[in-house]
Amino acid sequence: MTLRNSLVWFRRDLRLDDHAALHHALRSSDRVYCAFVFDTDILAGLPRDDRRVQFIHASLQELDKRLREWGAYLIVRHGRAADEIVDLAAGLEAESVFANHDYEPGAIARDREVQQRLREAGRSLQSFKDQVVFEKDEVLTLAGGPFSVFTPYKNAWLKRLAAHPEAIEAFETAPWAGALAPVSLSAGHVLPTLEALGFAPGEAPIHPTGMSGARQLLDAFLQRIDDYRTARDFPALDSTSRLSVHLRFGTLSIRSLVRLLRERADNGKDGAATWLSELIWREFYMMILQRHPRVATQSFKTAFDKLRWEEGPEADDAFTAWCESRTGYPLVDAAMAQLNRSGFMHNRLRMVTASFLTKDLGISWLRGERYFAARLNDYELSSNNGGWQWAASTGCDAQPWFRIFNPVTQSKRFDPDGAFIRRWLPQLAALEGPAIHAPWLAKPAVLERAGLVLGRDYPLPIVDHEQARERTLARFGALR
Ligand code: FAD
Repeated sequence: MTLRNSLVWFRRDLRLDDHAALHHALRSSDRVYCAFVFDTDILAGLPRDDRRVQFIHASLQELDKRLREWGAYLIVRHGRAADEIVDLAAGLEAESVFANHDYEPGAIARDREVQQRLREAGRSLQSFKDQVVFEKDEVLTLAGGPFSVFTPYKNAWLKRLAAHPEAIEAFETAPWAGALAPVSLSAGHVLPTLEALGFAPGEAPIHPTGMSGARQLLDAFLQRIDDYRTARDFPALDSTSRLSVHLRFGTLSIRSLVRLLRERADNGKDGAATWLSELIWREFYMMILQRHPRVATQSFKTAFDKLRWEEGPEADDAFTAWCESRTGYPLVDAAMAQLNRSGFMHNRLRMVTASFLTKDLGISWLRGERYFAARLNDYELSSNNGGWQWAASTGCDAQPWFRIFNPVTQSKRFDPDGAFIRRWLPQLAALEGPAIHAPWLAKPAVLERAGLVLGRDYPLPIVDHEQARERTLARFGALR
């Protein structure tokens, strides 16, 4: 059936190529409008200099520019998404709104409302799989249930891909771009400035943005992907892709990445195979969140909801010290400085800092998870929740509770010459040798040569790791 007018609603898929909703809309409609809504329900809770809003804003500028190269344009609205889309569909006389599935609980509720209201107005919402290769019901155990352990999930995922190579075929758009509504029909809803939206550029915006930024990062990463397996755990090296924010906002297609990796992995390159595993972790956690939405606020393993985490003024002070890079453990503090100042944190360090909060300070993973959610440019409920529950040992396929990272050992192992620490904690830059990992153990002469007075220039450790370890073993052991 051919539709007369339709509307493509961009959300976390800010690109034009290999885009399921756009592809289907273009192929089934005479005239296709494109829109994005700055959703006041989401924006209301964000600080004025939120880097993610800047990333979205810059990425939309490129989206609009590219649409204009095709003679079309992007309609941008600012309001409650459900109200704006229903209103826009009516104003444009769009018979159908096309979008891509969004799996987060809040988004599902929003889409249900939009669908209901469109239906009442005699229109429809059509939604498509786009941000994952396989959805929650496509990779199942032999018994037909969901996996809760990663490795068998990954094996089943790869097996399904081998059997269904069409899952990564591109949803092309360019051949049908002629169906886009021409710019002459522009209703004047152009992209507002950040200031008009109530935001302002912060000190360190995220670069590079948009489709071209994603491409740039990907091209650079492909030059070093063969080393990924061996280099990815060392935060001082530029060894990972930095594409997480692009996958979060869909400025590149997951299918295009997997197509590329399959070719590389087929050539026996293990860097590509390892990187593909990480992309599968992303889908694993998305599947877990959809199957068990309660994990957003509860432990995956419910027995751990009975854990007695530290609370009260002392715990609050320790939490603040963790947030503000003042724990006295350089690797932890450098990692938190990276998060606070750039909005990014290396994966190894996400594990180290999450472990430190939950197992050295005994503070609930929920508090750390919320702090990361507010700060991470790539914040993704499913991966963040999965990562935190992994580190806290409350999650599916998590780190066993009796395995407790030693923050000094992690530092020596993954930042051996302290290059990462020195980059983010300049007050420690002059410290020589192994003192960088544990300054409180350094000889007075070493501290003196570095011009460092502990307690003045850099804190003493706020907790003794060995004692904390015993407390954590007792905390978890008490549940048995
Ligand atoms: P690369 O190493 O290049 O990996 C490629 C892609 O694979 C990433 O961009 C990401 O999409 C995916 N990926 C990699 N590792 C994981 C993983 N462990 N779980 C799920 N997906 C993964 N990732 C987020 O995207 N958003 C989050 O909010 C988030 N919070 C985390 C919190 C904790 C406590 C932990 C331990 C991990 C978290 N991760 C999160 C996963 C991981 O740390 C980041 O995806 C990664 O550091 C992003 O950097 P990159 O793009 O250079 O990764």
